[in-house]
Amino acid sequence: MPSMLDAVVVGAGPNGLTAAAELARRGFSTAVFEAKGTVGGGARTEELTLPGFRHDPCSAVHPLGAGSPAFRAMPLDRYGLEWLHAPLPMAHPFDDGTAAVLSRSVSETAASFGPRDAGAYRRLVEPYIGRWDTLARDFMSLPLTALPRDPVTLARFGLDGLPPSTWLMRRFRDDRARALFAGLVAHVIAPLGGLATGAIGLVFALAAHAGGWPLPRGGSQSISDALAAYLKDLGGAVHTDYEVKRLDDLPPARAYVFDTSPTALARIAGLGRFYDGYRYGASVFKIDYAMDGPVPWTAEEPRRAGTVQVGPSSLEIGTALRQASGGTAPGTPFLITAQPSVVDPGRAPAGKHVFWAYGHVPNGWRGDLTEAVERQIERFAPGFRDLVLARATAGPPEMAARNANYVGGDIACGAARGLQLLLRPRLTLRPYHTPHPAVFLCSSATPPGPGVHGMSGHNAAKAVWQHLRRQTR
Ligand SMILES: Cc1cc2nc3c(=O)[nH]c(=O)nc-3n(C[C@H](O)[C@H](O)[C@H](O)COP(=O)(O)OP(=O)(O)OC[C@H]3O[C@@H](n4cnc5c(N)ncnc54)[C@H](O)[C@@H]3O)c2cc1C
Repeated sequence: MPSMLDAVVVGAGPNGLTAAAELARRGFSTAVFEAKGTVGGGARTEELTLPGFRHDPCSAVHPLGAGSPAFRAMPLDRYGLEWLHAPLPMAHPFDDGTAAVLSRSVSETAASFGPRDAGAYRRLVEPYIGRWDTLARDFMSLPLTALPRDPVTLARFGLDGLPPSTWLMRRFRDDRARALFAGLVAHVIAPLGGLATGAIGLVFALAAHAGGWPLPRGGSQSISDALAAYLKDLGGAVHTDYEVKRLDDLPPARAYVFDTSPTALARIAGLGRFYDGYRYGASVFKIDYAMDGPVPWTAEEPRRAGTVQVGPSSLEIGTALRQASGGTAPGTPFLITAQPSVVDPGRAPAGKHVFWAYGHVPNGWRGDLTEAVERQIERFAPGFRDLVLARATAGPPEMAARNANYVGGDIACGAARGLQLLLRPRLTLRPYHTPHPAVFLCSSATPPGPGVHGMSGHNAAKAVWQHLRRQTR
């Protein structure tokens, strides 16, 4: 290791690893320090239940990963990353035994909403079809790390997406489309009436039509392992089992980049109360299952989907989200479920499956939601419980113990509410900078926010290399 590194990155989540790789490939000497024994943060794979069952404790499905401009700019396929597509990106079953779907095909999706809403759905998404790559780059580079490539489409997206999702859902006459759309918004744990929540639903729908909602072969650890292997080939170093508590724990460097919560960054770098206004949001109660067979969904469509949303009406979904954000555990939780072995049989022994489900609960909640989660799954997949071989449960305290970035179990590392959904961690056009000129933030507490896409790391790296080049000059 040189006596003075160009950049030190704290945290080996997808954003930390992306920031490190971006800096290393520009010739800067870079080292990453990770608290846990393996790299990955929210993109890991582990045998949580029984031998041979490879679970994703956090992310499993990656609507924003495969199309991420940051990931696409790196040769991650050469380091083992292979995206797999389930026949359907997502299905959303109803009590009558039918299901709406989010398919790669706009027509199939629209048809699943029924004749009264098929046209409204087409009119909503069609202006963006064929423009996703540019739009994704433009909105994931906000605020202002790059000039928009297609300002007209970005402006249209702003007009559609900036109002609350409840406004956008008024375009639909029946609850099938509304429930599916409400479920999409819930992926970011945002109350449906919040500012810019329409954009969340729209982003997930457009990503499905443009590139699907793929899963990496072998589990989400493959993304992190590919990023770390690429970084090492570029000369970067990765140190695990190294929790950083103070800046003095780190070797001398010209820049320090934190893939941590703003709260931890302020503590470690001595930034006082700079991030005191930053708010953490609701958490999740997650269950990883080892299954004796596939989930016996009543409807046919969920059996071939990578993701299944479980919440039969927009009202039920809205109520569950409001309760979790407002401090009450929902009696009938809205569930996001993932079934990786539908598309990747190698994740479990022959004929067996891995499956996960989570419902939203208040930040710091200490109860057990297992019964409510399984009651809800049984409603749409009778006989589910009979197939469960083993389960691993994690509520907010376990989530926080898995990853220091999940403050109070908030898996988004910051509430997706109000202006904080768009402008995080503070109201500033320089979210990656801090009051310390050599200290930067690159976690999902910065734009574009949660998800495995590496774009916060990519954008932060840009701020860092501009700082390093200014110093050199
Ligand atoms: C249950 C769950 C399900 C999810 N599902 C999906 C999904 O399907 N698709 C999707 O795209 N996203 C999903 N996400 C979100 C996604 O995992 C995160 O948004 C993403 O991992 C954020 O990346 P990051 O690099 O900002 O932070 P993280 O991935 O959280 O990584 C931060 C890293 O920093 C380390 N660290 C923190 N503090 C220190 C310190 N002081 N010293 C050293 N190291 C430190 C942590 O150990 C961790 O490894 C899910 C998350 C959870 C928890």
